Amino acid sequence: MTIFNLGSINADLVYRVPHLPGPGETLASTSLSRGLGGKGANMSVAAARAGARCVHIGAVGEDGRWAIERLTEYGVDTRHIRVGSEPTGHAVIAVDDAGENSILLYPGANCALSEPDISKALSEATAEDLFICQNETNLQAEAARMASGRGMRVAYAAAPFSAAAVMAVLPLLDLLVLNEVEAAQLAEATGHSPEHLPVRDAVVTLGSKGCRWHNTDSGDTQAFPAIKVAPVDTTGAGDTFTGYLIAGLDRGMPMAQAIGLATKAAALMVTRMGTADVIPDLKDVQDMRS
Ligand code: ADP
Repeated sequence: MTIFNLGSINADLVYRVPHLPGPGETLASTSLSRGLGGKGANMSVAAARAGARCVHIGAVGEDGRWAIERLTEYGVDTRHIRVGSEPTGHAVIAVDDAGENSILLYPGANCALSEPDISKALSEATAEDLFICQNETNLQAEAARMASGRGMRVAYAAAPFSAAAVMAVLPLLDLLVLNEVEAAQLAEATGHSPEHLPVRDAVVTLGSKGCRWHNTDSGDTQAFPAIKVAPVDTTGAGDTFTGYLIAGLDRGMPMAQAIGLATKAAALMVTRMGTADVIPDLKDVQDMRS
């Protein structure tokens, strides 16, 4: 089975800072590192590292060929990443001494996708395959509709949060993944908590507190504690979690087992500085004590 991920690809510029800068504040950073990021790329790398076959659907500019090369190295199928005239998206990420972050995004090529780009990629998919998208590209709802029309399971990470984007894909979803802040934003927009939406499975991640999973068929909500680690950088924790989760599901794991695997992978991820380049592979995750 294959995962088709419509998602962003960014150059991540990560600045270490003593604290996150406030409005009007000028702050010197203590270091700068450049790496591959973007919620979409992170999830594709996580899924590939977890052992899944993952086709990434996306776009970069001429300045982003290195990102395609790196995704290929990491085991992602990059045939459906278009090189276009818009510059590659990038993120300016500040990380403080406590491992907290703040992120400024420039979408660039990520939001210049066309429906033919997506339909060409999805023409390779079967009803056994899984589709996922997030909110850092354009055309999520159109793509989710195409995927659903092909009988694929449709997953969605509602990040960064946009009420309009979530509402457009909601009726098409089998799985919704969102963090605590996004869950609160969704509740404000819809008047419903994720547990009361017409989506079969909803997973709300709670940072160092783990996550909770609600299944509409059974009506049950189950809590999963996080694994205790000393966090260094929480960037990409949610993306690693979601990538591993869908890879587990794609492999046929029951939801609880896939969440267990994702929880371990995300815990290991927060002990590492960086994004896509440092997402742990399956062997490291399996070797972890829990
Ligand atoms: P996001 O990165 O999208 O904001 P969360 O912060 O909720 O998402 O983190 C996603 C998952 O990563 C959590 O459900 C948890 O399993 C794991 N995680 C995040 N922070 C920590 C932490 N400090 N210690 C252990 N696990 C963590």
